[in-house]
Amino acid sequence: MRKRIVILGAGYGGLRTLKRLQRMKPNAELILIDKNDYHCEKTSLHEVAAGTANADEICYSLQQVIDPKRTQFIQDTVLRVDRESRRIQLKEHKPISYDYLVIGLGFVPEYYGIEGMDRFGLAISDIPSVIRIRNHIEDQFKAWTEDQRSDRLVIAVGGAGFTSFEFLGELTQRIPELITRYQVDAKQVRIVCIEPTPKALPMFNRQLAAYGSRKLRNRGVDFLIGRVCGFDGAKIYYRTKEQVQSLKAGTFVWTGGVSGSAVVRDSGFEERRGRVRVMDDLSVPGHPEILIIGDCSAVIDPGSGQPYPTTAQIALQQADCAAYNVKAMLDDRPTKSFVFKFKGTVCSLGRDDAVGEVMGKGLKGRPASVMKKVIENRSLVKIGGVETMLKKGRFS
Ligand code: FAD
Repeated sequence: MRKRIVILGAGYGGLRTLKRLQRMKPNAELILIDKNDYHCEKTSLHEVAAGTANADEICYSLQQVIDPKRTQFIQDTVLRVDRESRRIQLKEHKPISYDYLVIGLGFVPEYYGIEGMDRFGLAISDIPSVIRIRNHIEDQFKAWTEDQRSDRLVIAVGGAGFTSFEFLGELTQRIPELITRYQVDAKQVRIVCIEPTPKALPMFNRQLAAYGSRKLRNRGVDFLIGRVCGFDGAKIYYRTKEQVQSLKAGTFVWTGGVSGSAVVRDSGFEERRGRVRVMDDLSVPGHPEILIIGDCSAVIDPGSGQPYPTTAQIALQQADCAAYNVKAMLDDRPTKSFVFKFKGTVCSLGRDDAVGEVMGKGLKGRPASVMKKVIENRSLVKIGGVETMLKKGRFS
């Protein structure tokens, strides 16, 4: 009987794995499962959240990648993986069995148990979540014209890492448009970033991180030092050395952390914050037929002894290795080890500004911003192909 390969998730890792496997033409059935029928370039989600891009600019149909002669697509929500029976439990469809499984279900926000976040928190994680943020901010501007409540126009962001800075960079460019559209008093608008330590953008050296903070400060962002410990929908509570303080805000966006998909935990994998420490060839200990990639996996950096940070960059590289290894297992050949090649990272600070490190070199300002667009376009080519890049790519 023909073997069946099932891929869960059509994100960076899952869809790239499918693309590679389709090219390798394995003698096996291919099934892709995702809750959506589109791929989202999640590295641009902050733009939709800030309202500087529309959702359709950062998404494309899975039909652009799926070869219907080779692949069956099932649109459904994955609930659980039953390892013993080798079946996937889905919300709407009957269970799907597999011989080989690649899990690439991505991330969910991690609130670290901070009180109230589950109920009131806004976080950048997928298309519905960023549309909610964009509408919420706009609703606050609209409501201000009725009641002029000063805290309505306070927008607070929890965390001062990569996603926080990318979002703040876009937001500071969107605010002037909102001020004009709703004719609000510009002095009432306040953007605040709350971070536990003064160490913003920890992935960069001090000079580059300071450049990022300075740029945002110059555009009016206030930085508060404190560890967020609660949110009741109106007030953010944060702990400083001395005491718990509070800040009234109309909007609070959490960017302080992510964990791997809850499906990983619900399926009983040995995990930490939704990430499974995979073997060298990306398989799950004791289950060579299951490979985990992207934000649900943890691969140890031999340099630091810590897991590599979760990024689209590593997910794409893991996908190439996962596709190779699934084909190798089908052909009864040995699998290979995954080796991560860090190519650098660039954090955008709005349309024409960015900061980053590429091939060991620090970049700032316009050159960094151009590099960011090159990286985004490359990612579009790697999965969607040249046609998708020409339609959805960044050129100005
Ligand atoms: P994802 O790309 O998250 O895809 C997961 C897929 O699984 C999705 O298609 C989703 O619909 C599907 N799915 C999830 N749960 C279910 C379910 N239960 N059932 C069915 N389908 C499901 N990384 C970089 O390398 N560079 C950057 O510049 C960068 N910038 C970023 C900026 C922002 C604002 C954010 C939020 C992240 C950024 N990242 C960046 C991180 C990067 O986006 C993630 O690491 C990457 O998306 C992880 O890829 P993945 O393949 O694991 O999953």
